[in-house]
Amino acid sequence: MPSGRIGVFVCACGPNIGDRMDIDRIVQEVSTIDGVVLSETYGLLCSPAGKTYLAEQIVDNKLDRIVVAACSPREHERTFMDICEKAGLNPFMMQMANIREQVAWVTKDKDLATDKALRLIRGAINRTTRHKPLSKSGIVCNPEIVVIGGGIAGMTTSLVLAEADRRITIIERASSLYETADSTGRTLTETLADKVENRSEITVLLETEINEIVGFFGNFIVRPEANTYEVEPDDIQAGSIVLATGCSTGDSEESVSSPGFTEIADMLRIETNEHGFPAREHDSLAPVSTPIDGVYVTGCAGGSCDLLMTIAQSEAVAGTILSSLIPGREVETEPKTSVISETLCRGCRICLEVCSYGAVSFDEEKLICSVNSILCKGCGNCAAACPSGAIKAQHFTPDQIRYQLTGLLT
Ligand code: SF4
Ligand code: SF4
Repeated sequence: MPSGRIGVFVCACGPNIGDRMDIDRIVQEVSTIDGVVLSETYGLLCSPAGKTYLAEQIVDNKLDRIVVAACSPREHERTFMDICEKAGLNPFMMQMANIREQVAWVTKDKDLATDKALRLIRGAINRTTRHKPLSKSGIVCNPEIVVIGGGIAGMTTSLVLAEADRRITIIERASSLYETADSTGRTLTETLADKVENRSEITVLLETEINEIVGFFGNFIVRPEANTYEVEPDDIQAGSIVLATGCSTGDSEESVSSPGFTEIADMLRIETNEHGFPAREHDSLAPVSTPIDGVYVTGCAGGSCDLLMTIAQSEAVAGTILSSLIPGREVETEPKTSVISETLCRGCRICLEVCSYGAVSFDEEKLICSVNSILCKGCGNCAAACPSGAIKAQHFTPDQIRYQLTGLLT
């Protein structure tokens, strides 16, 4: 096993873990493992005092990797990674062993629970010896906005955003903004269309569909496709996207999403219901936000909606964008991206098919695929699917997993 200064911290989680296994035996046995220079227990590691203690131990003992044996990583992995970072230790040099949900809460016999916890901790210690520091990077948000749909909802949102000096591109499939209204909203549509035409901040692309959308909050790329023009419009870069496509019928029970909406939702990886309307982040607390950060929905694009509600939602969307998509703000990119080996890739493109984030592209000259690390979300789908073993999912390498398993089984 490669050398390192490994610290192991066993959290008692009050009585949750402390009463259900022999923590003293765990700490003692762990202290004899190669590379472990510190093995301790603490009552509640996630408490303010526990966090301070952990940071101090990392610094004082010059630890270069740590194992936290505690609750589920879903609950506190971020907490402990943050502590590492503050203590000057790369957060990816930390590994959690879940001895609460996976042991304390499910294994009644105290001796068995102690043995099982020891195995999980050995696996985590082994794994950390193969960890490599990974670094985060930040990219500056693009403050521009793409509004898909040039009806009352899209124009209202755009005009509020334009008042705040944002640049907006409205993409509309009809040949004129004036065409977008039904009889009830015609006067308002015409008034809004006149205002939109007089705003230099707003660009309108008519007779245009969406070909592809890739990216994430702060950095979307929208590829439009003109229905009639001979020259394709350029890609549009934007920090947020507003879905304002209207709907084909207005009756509350009968309404369905507009033609082409499901395809747009698919490009953005937003689930739709049986009527084709998008899921919301939260029906009552965040009714204009979709589950995808930076993508909003307003008016009939989200379901049956009357005029007053359409205007209220559109203003809410604009307000949400103005308060979150702040010029100059940086968003962090995912450090645990996948990497494709040029020599092992044989160009089958399976990875390209399974990537839901548009992060894989095919090089027509080299006949191989590569991953765009800005777009990659580190889901690992491509690494699991590649038949050539050409893709390495960083922080989940075969070596790391093998070492962890070896620790579990010895
Ligand atoms: S799945 Fe693997 S071999 Fe196939 S194109 Fe992608 S990286 Fe190359
Ligand atoms: S790890 Fe996921 S997001 Fe990244 S390239 Fe592979 S499939 Fe796409």
